[in-house]
Amino acid sequence: MTPVIALVGRPNVGKSTLFNRLTRSRDALVANFSGLTRDRQYGEGKLGNRDYLVIDTGGITGNEEGIDAMMAGQSLQAIDEADAVLFLVDARAGLTPADEMIAKHLRIHNKSAYLVVNKLDGLDADAALADFYELGLANVEGIAAAHGRGVKALINKVLDEF
Ligand code: GDP
Ligand code: MG
Repeated sequence: MTPVIALVGRPNVGKSTLFNRLTRSRDALVANFSGLTRDRQYGEGKLGNRDYLVIDTGGITGNEEGIDAMMAGQSLQAIDEADAVLFLVDARAGLTPADEMIAKHLRIHNKSAYLVVNKLDGLDADAALADFYELGLANVEGIAAAHGRGVKALINKVLDEF
């Protein structure tokens, strides 16, 4: 079984940066559904001898209208399609109402979910993570997607479930 890992979260938290790091090449297996420009994007990756699929999504802002609502819809579909969900938040921005909304959705959904606190580079990890525990997700991991810090450990943990 090849696990499917969805990347969700607000725009600008680093989902596409992580996607590029997790997939072998940017155009590895890129399939866009429907006609939307900012749609979900699929890529394949490998860690050791284990394959996985990653879905990148456009982002959820929490007060969607128009195209944003479509993007949020795509994110919810990606959650449905996934075996594991990586919910990214931005350590520099701190906790936002949109993060709380997404966390609530994930708790209802009852999927294997990881709260991934990104952009930890140059920050005190313990202090940066502390803010986010109130989201009530059991698995909290810190990474710096742009630099690769913590990324392999995170994927190892995710893949160990399958
Ligand atoms: P997305 O909208 O969630 O897909 O976010 P992007 O991947 O496009 O990243 C948004 C911005 O955050 C870009 O300017 C990235 O370079 C920056 N970014 C992503 N990961 C990191 C990180 O680990 N550390 C820092 N400092 N910036 C990052
Ligand atoms: Mg993106």
